[in-house]
Amino acid sequence: MKTTKRQTKVLSHKFVEFIPDVLEDGVIYISTTYATASHKCCCGCGKEVVTPISPTDWQIVFDGETVSLFPSIGNWNFACRSHYWITKNKVEWAPRWPKRRIEDGRAYDKWFKEKYFSGTLKKDRMV
Ligand SMILES: [Zn+2]
Repeated sequence: MKTTKRQTKVLSHKFVEFIPDVLEDGVIYISTTYATASHKCCCGCGKEVVTPISPTDWQIVFDGETVSLFPSIGNWNFACRSHYWITKNKVEWAPRWPKRRIEDGRAYDKWFKEKYFSGTLKKDRMV
């Protein structure tokens, strides 16, 4: 895999009430008040990644020292199209999905949300 110098390998986390306007590199900001988290894309492109926290979006696990985010972060709308997991503050790079897989993922998300909000699905989402 091609790597860039500014690629983030380990994030630190900050619990905040408001996500700041300017994000620091390598920091994931988590607002439990507004149920959202934000960080700069870990590939180093500088794009801001906003991950809403909800039963149908992302979930955050804080183990007292580190945070993990599920499911993976797929920045398909960015030029970099980076895809990674944040697990215990570490960035684990995932393969880029081909277009077909991205579309499948979107279709799955849509299906899941519809099922979730219609109350016909009680299980946790597939990660
Ligand atoms: Zn990027």
